[in-house]
Amino acid sequence: MARYRGPVCRLCRREGAKLFLKGQRCLTPKCAIDKRNFAPGAHGKARRSRVQGYGLQLREKQKAKRVYGLLEKQFRSTFRRAERQRTVTGATLLQLLERRLDNVVYRLGFAPSRAAARLFVGHGHVEVNGRRVNVPSATLNAGDVVRVADRTRKKDFFKQVMEEAEGHVVPDWLMREPEDPATAKVATLPTGEDPQLRIRDQLIVELYSR
Ligand code: SF4
Repeated sequence: MARYRGPVCRLCRREGAKLFLKGQRCLTPKCAIDKRNFAPGAHGKARRSRVQGYGLQLREKQKAKRVYGLLEKQFRSTFRRAERQRTVTGATLLQLLERRLDNVVYRLGFAPSRAAARLFVGHGHVEVNGRRVNVPSATLNAGDVVRVADRTRKKDFFKQVMEEAEGHVVPDWLMREPEDPATAKVATLPTGEDPQLRIRDQLIVELYSR
């Protein structure tokens, strides 16, 4: 599946917000947003103007796409899927994005970033309900059990990731097994709201309804 392969800190600088694309580095003073919070490019410093209307809607959509690592086609098809459900489209869109397997793996701390989680899933390190699933976009349901494959648990890279994730806060809708931190259950469906990201879904709905 196609994905963005360029420098990711530029994406945060373009949006003027931390998108948490680089794992632990995002929490250190090395974060590019803390050091250079202006748009990338030669004229980035000069050109931060007030964005309104269409521009505001576009930036919000770009932000959501970039946070979850999707390109336009994948993002739009997720939006269409949300639209087909007879619920509030914006909230359903965010919920569908949160329910992606790669996002859940990241939220559980099994990978330091969503990009790493995507590779982790793609390489077959994750099982859902006892079966190996290597599709990062797979949608999880309430009650699904996600676990790291036995052979992966012995690998040094995974042990290191788990050590670094010590103290990682898992959202309420996911429940780690107390005696096995590499296994977790989707307790309920997520609301889609993330106070850290603060994605304004209504602006995305307005953009696609034009
Ligand atoms: Fe880079 Fe992470 Fe900071 Fe974004 S939040 S600028 S990805 S270090």
